[in-house]
Amino acid sequence: MIEEQYDMLLELQKIDIDIDEEEKKKRNLPLMIEGITKKILMLKDSSKNKNENYKNLQVKLKRIELNLTEKSNKIEKHQEDLYGGKISDIKELKQIQKVIANYKEEKDSIEEDVLDLMEEMEDLDKSIGHLDDDLKAKEKEFKKRKEETDLSRLVIEKNMNSLNIKREETFNKITDDRLLKEYGHLRKEKGGKAIMEVDGSMCPGCYLDLPSDVIYQLKKNRKIIICPNCSRILIWKD
Ligand SMILES: [Zn+2]
Repeated sequence: MIEEQYDMLLELQKIDIDIDEEEKKKRNLPLMIEGITKKILMLKDSSKNKNENYKNLQVKLKRIELNLTEKSNKIEKHQEDLYGGKISDIKELKQIQKVIANYKEEKDSIEEDVLDLMEEMEDLDKSIGHLDDDLKAKEKEFKKRKEETDLSRLVIEKNMNSLNIKREETFNKITDDRLLKEYGHLRKEKGGKAIMEVDGSMCPGCYLDLPSDVIYQLKKNRKIIICPNCSRILIWKD
């Protein structure tokens, strides 16, 4: 009679451990997409920053180009003065030449700036392109992972349902209330295994060398024996 109860309790424990396992899997499901979600947010953030940076450079370029046009206009105007024949004073003409040379120097320097800026923009544009490619790849991966996660969740829920049904059936077959109470208490306290099968001289739960009278009682298998060290329920394995 008690042996049958022990078998049932072992079966119950097996089911409970399986349920724990499924619950752990369910808890870990969000981790499957957590990393990639973070990565996508980071890429989006980076892409946003670079695009803003690019727009700022565009504004800067326009401003520099306006400045360049202004310098060209000024040079043109002074050249008209220089070659228009209206001014004949040598000193004044030399002064105009000097001003034109200054503007030309400034214009050269600005043109160099434009080239640098355009190069910077080209690099940035390439970098944005790579980011967008990365983002697309990660979003595709996310979609796949999400589908896998959803499928896993369904499987886990199905397993849990059938385990819970099996648990109730097994639970109802155990009539020894004291045994059930002890088991419930130990499971809560220790998690994992509350009842253990002994096939030598050691408690498999805490590796204590069991006293010979405990072994003797175990082999008789007549009443609930608990390990004097870890309090787990012990049964003799035939
Ligand atoms: Zn023990």
